[in-house]
Amino acid sequence: MRCAALYRVSTARQVTRDTETDETLPVQREAIRAFVRAHRDWSLVAEYSEEGVSAYRHASAERDVLQDVLSAANRREFDLLLVFKADRLSRQAFEYPVILAQLHRVGVTVMSVADVPGGKTLEVEGQFEKLIRFIEGWQAETESYNTSIRVSAAMEQMARQGRWTGGTPPYGYRLAQGTEGFPLAVDAEEAAVIRQMFQWYLHDGIGTVTIAQRLNDLGYRGRKGGQWADFRVRRVMKNPILAGRLAYGRKRRNGSGNHVLRGRDEWDQLILGPFNPSLVIIPPDQWQAAMDKMAAYGHGTNTGPRYSRADQGTLLLTGFAKCADCGGAMVATHGYYWVRRKAGDYKVPRVMYGCLTKITKGPTACPGQRTFAQKKVEDAVIPAILRTLGNIDQAAVVAEARRIAEQSLFHRRTRATQLAKHIAEAERIYAGWLARLDQFFAHPEQSLYSESVLAAKVRESEERLQSLRAQQTDWEQTQQTAAAQLADLERFLTNTANWWRQFLEAPRPRQKALLKHVLDRVVLGRDGYEIYYRLDLSQLVGAKTLAPIAWQEAATWR
Ligand SMILES: [Zn+2]
Repeated sequence: MRCAALYRVSTARQVTRDTETDETLPVQREAIRAFVRAHRDWSLVAEYSEEGVSAYRHASAERDVLQDVLSAANRREFDLLLVFKADRLSRQAFEYPVILAQLHRVGVTVMSVADVPGGKTLEVEGQFEKLIRFIEGWQAETESYNTSIRVSAAMEQMARQGRWTGGTPPYGYRLAQGTEGFPLAVDAEEAAVIRQMFQWYLHDGIGTVTIAQRLNDLGYRGRKGGQWADFRVRRVMKNPILAGRLAYGRKRRNGSGNHVLRGRDEWDQLILGPFNPSLVIIPPDQWQAAMDKMAAYGHGTNTGPRYSRADQGTLLLTGFAKCADCGGAMVATHGYYWVRRKAGDYKVPRVMYGCLTKITKGPTACPGQRTFAQKKVEDAVIPAILRTLGNIDQAAVVAEARRIAEQSLFHRRTRATQLAKHIAEAERIYAGWLARLDQFFAHPEQSLYSESVLAAKVRESEERLQSLRAQQTDWEQTQQTAAAQLADLERFLTNTANWWRQFLEAPRPRQKALLKHVLDRVVLGRDGYEIYYRLDLSQLVGAKTLAPIAWQEAATWR
């Protein structure tokens, strides 16, 4: 057996800077060499070692030793690849199934020597299913997005005419009675509450949490008699109708199919009706000022706490970005940069990622850097994410999806053939017992069976036949569904070459929606950043038992 060894330090350890580990390259080398010596007829023909590992790596400067391994495997230079532990095979969990499949395809087996005593063969089965489910989720996201676009298009006509689409009027308004034309009118009582909210928010600097408390304390209730909550206050305040513009398509479906309110960053997807002065409760400039302030604090109105900022934030990475020093959220905030001119220096405003702890509790509350320029962050992080997605071997994924589809259909067909055989046999047995029963009635004295035995056998064989036929009907239905699903998936994979490139071409709100399937968080520090990937398959496929695939990478700022 010709063996090759791959020595590398795990990414997790790099990031936690856990260098006091017994899994350094020399330790790995010793373990794998000993493992080879322990097997007769095994020889170590090549050793691949990762050099110059540091806590932060320049992703672009990286020349992955894995590429050398794959090339050598393609040239059939070894039969068995030995790694210290399974997580050393690939830097990114995303790559893991692809690499494993590539090696398997050229006949190379992969073993980890330290995961379990005696070593463990790494199985390719099951790995691709994880990836496929992720792609299915990506595909589902595309479809729901397209649906929401179509709905919006249908509403556009009504919006142009400023027509009310019907349904419950927004808070602050009631259906006008006996008026011609536009059926909404300002509700004086609710409008007063809204004006109070804006007064507190803009002039007294009070946040929506406190506003909700104050309203409750003063005895105000929502329209249905419920208590005010901060998100309800924000939902009311965020409606452009307050500034005289009726908004269409404020809600969209999220990944789980629930309706969520579109955030400020998605307002390019809203359709606003013409300005209608009779609807104004808050003057447009004041309303806009409140919205800017709200965006600066990154307030989301989404239902899910986990991704509320990710869904609603202004910047691409709000909701994902975290401060390396305090762990707090990095939200969109306004900063300046200085332009120096002879006539005098002046400040130019720009949007930044800012540590929420510092913004809300003051500069001493967190030892980290207060703000990071949007451009610096996104120019570094987004290409890194794309590189990771780009590392996926598209052809390998499609080939593997096809293989799985065929295998799965084959199993199904085999099962269907088996069922058909069982049914034919059950029919024969049933017919046999019926014939014996006939015989019994014709010549009772010649029968080997009593009447009661025959009756029981006839009933028993009839029940078995019925049960098998029910199974067959069931099976045919699930098979049709499965075949349709697999066909969908294959069509998607074939037609959408480089499906991840959708990300590049997508408008920003959609990019954020896609990132949610890949990103857990991006940690921003003085020296560099860490990207934590997390494919939460359970959410995508509705199977709670699926563990998310997680991995991370780190790099220094350029
Ligand atoms: Zn901080």
